[in-house]
Amino acid sequence: MQRMKIGIMGGTFNPIHNGHLLLGEMAYEQFGLDKVLIMPTKHPYYKDISGNIMEKDRVAMVQLAVNDNPHFEFSALELNREGTTYTVDTLEELHQKFPENDYYFILGKDSLDYLESWKDVTRIFELCKIIAASRDDLDGKIDEKIAYLNRKYHAEIFRLYSPNLEISSSYLRKELSTGKSCRYLVPDSVLAYIKENRLYG
Ligand code: NAP
Repeated sequence: MQRMKIGIMGGTFNPIHNGHLLLGEMAYEQFGLDKVLIMPTKHPYYKDISGNIMEKDRVAMVQLAVNDNPHFEFSALELNREGTTYTVDTLEELHQKFPENDYYFILGKDSLDYLESWKDVTRIFELCKIIAASRDDLDGKIDEKIAYLNRKYHAEIFRLYSPNLEISSSYLRKELSTGKSCRYLVPDSVLAYIKENRLYG
C-alpha cells in the first residue's frame, strides 16, 4: 500500500480564521499532501483558552470552516485525550493507530521559535517532518533557524512559501468584542456562528 502524506495543523482556533486555512491549503499544495487534519488543542500548557469560549464552540467553528474543503479533515484526536495536550503524544498515537502514514506537522514562524522547548522535541523530529510557514521573514531568520534545527537534531524541517495574511485570533477577539465586522478575515459560516451564539462579546 502506498504511504499517505498527512498534514497536521494544530491550534487553539479561538477562533479559526482565514490565515489558518490558507496555511493548511498552501501546505497541502506545496508538499503534495493527501489531506490535512485540522486538530483543535484541548489543554495547552502554555496558554489559557481566553474569552470564556467553550470547547463545543471551537469545535463547531472548525467544523464549519473545514466543511467546504475536501483537502481538510476535522480531527478530535487531542480533544479525546485528557490532561495537558502535548504534540509528541498526538504523534505517538497517530503512529500507533496508522503506522502506514507519514506525518507533516504544520507550524507558524512564532511556533518554530519555541519548538526546542516543546516536550520530547527529539522524538517529535523522529515522528514527523515539519512544515514551517513564515508570516514575514524580511531578515531571512527563518532559513537560519531551520538550518540550525535540521543540523542539531537531524530533523526534516521545510519552509512553506505563502502569502502573508496578518490575521491572528487575538486580533479577531478584540475586534469582535467592539462590534467590528471581521468579514473576509474568517469564513462567512464561522462569522455567522459567532454572531448567532454571541461569542466574543
Ligand atoms: P494557534 O495560535 O491557534 O495557531 C495555529 C497555527 O497557525 C500556529 O502555528 C500559528 O503560527 C499559525 N498561524 C496563525 N495565524 C496565522 C497567519 N495569519 N499566518 C500564518 N500562520 C498563522 O496555535 P498554537 O497555540 O500556536 O499551537 C499550534 C500547535 O502547536 C498546536 O497543535 C499545539 O498543541 C502545538 N504546541 C505544542 C507544544 C508542545 O507539545 N509542547 C507547545 C506549543 C504548541 P504562529 O505561531 O506564527 O502564530
